[in-house]
Amino acid sequence: MKCAAKLRAAAACAGLIAAGACAGAQPAAREDQAAQQSRYASELQAEVSADKIGSYIKQLTARPNYPGAPYAESVADQTLALFKQWGWDARFETFEVSFPRAIEQTVELLGPQGYQAKIHEPPIPGDTYSDNQAEILQPQFVYGPDGDVTAPLVYVNLGLRDDYEELRKLGVSVAGKLVIARIGSLWRGGKVELAAEHGAAGMLIYSDPKEDGYFRDDPYPAGSGRTPDGVQRGSILYGKYPGDPLTPDEPALPGAKRLSKDDPRSTVARIPAVPLSYSDAQHLLAALGGQVAPEAWRGALPLTYHVGPSKSDVHLKVKYDWKLLSWRDVIARLPGKVWPEELVIRGNHRDGWVYGAQDPHSGHSEMLEEARALGKLYREGWRPKRTIVYASWEGEEQGTIGSTEWTEAHRQQLLDHAVVYMNTDVMGQGTVGGTGSASLAAFVSAIAAGIPDPNSGVSTLERAKVAARDSIYELPSSYGSGMAAADRTFDFQHNRLVLSAPGYSSDHQAFVSNLAVATLNMGFNGDVTVGGAYHTSYDDYAYYTRFVDPGFKYGHAAAQLNGTAVFELASADVLPLQFDATAEAVGREVASVKRLYETLLKRANTTNSAIADGAYATLLDPLRPLTPPARESVPALDFAPLDAAASAVSSAAQRFMSAQQALSGQLSRSQVQKINLALLQVERAFNRPSGMPDRPYYKNELYSPGRLWDTVPFPAIGDAMLDGHWDVAREQIPLAANTVQGIGKAMDAAAAQMVAASSKKAD
Ligand SMILES: [Zn+2]
Repeated sequence: MKCAAKLRAAAACAGLIAAGACAGAQPAAREDQAAQQSRYASELQAEVSADKIGSYIKQLTARPNYPGAPYAESVADQTLALFKQWGWDARFETFEVSFPRAIEQTVELLGPQGYQAKIHEPPIPGDTYSDNQAEILQPQFVYGPDGDVTAPLVYVNLGLRDDYEELRKLGVSVAGKLVIARIGSLWRGGKVELAAEHGAAGMLIYSDPKEDGYFRDDPYPAGSGRTPDGVQRGSILYGKYPGDPLTPDEPALPGAKRLSKDDPRSTVARIPAVPLSYSDAQHLLAALGGQVAPEAWRGALPLTYHVGPSKSDVHLKVKYDWKLLSWRDVIARLPGKVWPEELVIRGNHRDGWVYGAQDPHSGHSEMLEEARALGKLYREGWRPKRTIVYASWEGEEQGTIGSTEWTEAHRQQLLDHAVVYMNTDVMGQGTVGGTGSASLAAFVSAIAAGIPDPNSGVSTLERAKVAARDSIYELPSSYGSGMAAADRTFDFQHNRLVLSAPGYSSDHQAFVSNLAVATLNMGFNGDVTVGGAYHTSYDDYAYYTRFVDPGFKYGHAAAQLNGTAVFELASADVLPLQFDATAEAVGREVASVKRLYETLLKRANTTNSAIADGAYATLLDPLRPLTPPARESVPALDFAPLDAAASAVSSAAQRFMSAQQALSGQLSRSQVQKINLALLQVERAFNRPSGMPDRPYYKNELYSPGRLWDTVPFPAIGDAMLDGHWDVAREQIPLAANTVQGIGKAMDAAAAQMVAASSKKAD
């Protein structure tokens, strides 16, 4: 059947969505359908309910729900039942993955001032959730090796590359020692890997009160700050690939071939590690001798921070059970009517470290509410043009396991047909923002313009604009990753949000970094919360309703925003991707990798000339002798191929935008399909088919994580520079430039489809 789709110049919501009617409809009928579409969108926004969001959080976090917890099975069953009740075609997809529970965990300071760490979160008066000690997962890391180490302890600050440089300058070695680092700035697994690379025998990672404790807010329950005994649980797998550490690249289906946990090809950390609260860490830090730590290294504990080593040894022992569990994703579908093979995918994880009221149920519950409202529209007769898939993932916390294994099970289908993956996870309240594909910035901004901010009453887009404009509104630095700088959160010229680079810290990781599917990860942040309950047993309903989102108002706004985005993406004829912002994003990454090079060059030159001209000897302080070793000199690198590629993308984007603006009139179904296929190829063009050097899983040239799961511009080049592998950096520049050239070519191909369709009209 032919489809005479009329592009609607001013769609109700986005102003750029071609949401015309279909299947040979007459103009009047098309208008009717457009009006009906608009009514459905309004109904969706009116339907979602804050109270219902609150009720899902309360119900699904009534008991601890980490994988293998007694209540986790019920939470999965309840989630499945809800989707079915709302009219979705829902089922489980099950994977078998090991969850190493710590069966023994000891950290003790030996010697006369001996101390045994508690590694335990006690009940908090007035918070009945914290009484369920039998089911609370005691603090631990997952995906480290067993270990039993007795050694002196050294403080390594945040445990970053630069921190080990600083220690070398201070003449302190960590080889064979235990190290202790603060939480912050880098993925836990990256810290453990760096410690292993520097020869440490084991690692402790603790939450300093400066990060999210009394330095920020009164400790819970008086305020939202981390309690003295609050421990940040977490995964420490090493980032060669996400998902199950033992089944790289393959879905962890029952009977799958598994690596042994000691296999170096796995992502299991190389040295044992244990997380600590600051009440425990304080005793160990107080036992450190050696020099006073540099000023930037000092936290907020009432002691003088030393780098160590400790006078007495510390004993670390940890042992895990590595039990194989069934992990269940709930996958729910509403079938598409026009292009059923095309997939609009929306997901959030369901597992908490303990209760997980904020992480993940803030996002999970608002996602459920979107699904309920979409199900209602469907029962009333609305039909999406594309198939909508809602996914409730299990095991995000352990390493985005449920989502990664699912993408591995459906890889080719997703590469061919996934239009978008929309993620949420930890939601708060405040200003709208997020990460995602720049091509969707205009689309999501137009939706945000139609959704009121619960507190101020202005639109959420307007609030974001004010937040970016006014330096009077200082965002807390815990949200500092790209949120504070006005030029990075808002594009005033185009009146749209600037989305931060699509990251990898949640379930969108596999979609972005392996499949190069367009993503959105939108939420509200900036107000009130300091994250003091993050990954503790106190992230529960009692804490949530006091500090995170009282009244579920921002959950409600998020359900309106994300629900509408799903609705529009599933309803659009020509997909609402715009590549002018993509070209800007590519330009930012190129500028960023060049800036990294300049920084490293300048640093090496400064240190080496200071050594050469005797500056350190002149300024020698006998009490704090600094003996910086010379830095490896930084060779010249030629970034011209990347500059040329970025400018080619920029020109292609302009040609694309002209073609898109000129696109008008009636298009046939096959013309729309051809255009959309070409649009998706622009996103896929971010992939380098062979992947990053030594990490073939990671294919996205711009948006794969660095090898420490950190943000590194052009990771193939950036990681090599940070590791001092200059030959690799040099040989990677033209390869990366080649990928970027491909993005421009894909934009031209998409523009060509539009021009062809405009000149030919309905066939
Ligand atoms: Zn989460």
